[in-house]
Amino acid sequence: MSSVRTILGVTVRTPAKVNLELRVGPLRDHGYHDLSTVFHAVDLTDNVTVSEAGDWGCTVVGPYADNVPTDASNLAVQAARMVYERYGFTGTAHITIDKSIPVAGGMAGGSADGAAALVGVDALLDAGLSKQELQSLAAELGSDVPFALFGGTALGSGRGEQLAPILTQGRTEWVFALRHEGLSTPAVYAECDRLRGTAPVSTPEPSQSLMAALRAGDVHGIARCLRNDLQDAAFSLMPDLEQTLDLGLDNGALGGIVSGSGPTVAFLCAGRADALELMVVLAASKSCDEVVRATGPAHGAHVVHDVRMS
Ligand code: ATP
Repeated sequence: MSSVRTILGVTVRTPAKVNLELRVGPLRDHGYHDLSTVFHAVDLTDNVTVSEAGDWGCTVVGPYADNVPTDASNLAVQAARMVYERYGFTGTAHITIDKSIPVAGGMAGGSADGAAALVGVDALLDAGLSKQELQSLAAELGSDVPFALFGGTALGSGRGEQLAPILTQGRTEWVFALRHEGLSTPAVYAECDRLRGTAPVSTPEPSQSLMAALRAGDVHGIARCLRNDLQDAAFSLMPDLEQTLDLGLDNGALGGIVSGSGPTVAFLCAGRADALELMVVLAASKSCDEVVRATGPAHGAHVVHDVRMS
């Protein structure tokens, strides 16, 4: 009896992120800002299934399926096609995204799906891509894609795509206040530039206090160090976000921050009980459209299931 088994479909679980620190440097000639950021993956995840199919296709299901493109602009489709084309594979695949990461919420859901498709196609085709090859394809797809492969907690530099792991202890408990209306990442960066005007902007450097707090598993220390240079720009474009942040800070959160380019507001809590209490307050206040809870750090994009033919 042959032991060769062909994989017909692969499901990859992939995490959302929150930036514990997002320092935005000067705008460079290539159109991007230099960043120094601390990415933290949380267990709010999408499941991306890549299967052999007669043609390219994409289906999106789940609570946040609306507003996700299913054509060639979907980052998961772009990622899958990239692997087929670059490595000379013939054939086509269908991608099904079960979307639990809010869309355009500053949690890098699209990037997470792109990373998942890279991992899924690699497994489906038994392509044997190295970590470096996957990271390099990910960096071409977008600045946040490499971190979704990486997971855990990592320092990002350059456009955020150059990663180094950060030693951490313990777990973090988060509550996320979500908005149905998204914020466009380019619009938030443009607003940041407008608010800064001609003031000199220094080269961004990571905070040593945050690194020490992460190393020690000191959640109060982490909360004190939360910082996002895009926060004022997000407040400027969506002023009532500031009230959401204040409400969380007045109701038990150790710290709070706009996640990435927003409009999600992320609250760090001391433990599960505090997180649940805060969820109730935020939901009752109507200062956001939805409230979800998650813990960190979470694993990067990884295969959770495959379907094989003997
Ligand atoms: P970031 O924090 O990286 O800026 P974000 O969380 O604010 O990202 P995403 O959820 O990644 O935003 O979505 C941004 C836009 O990307 C969406 O409005 C959508 O049009 C497009 N997009 C392309 N592919 C996907 C995908 N697989 N999932 C979600 N959005 C996608």
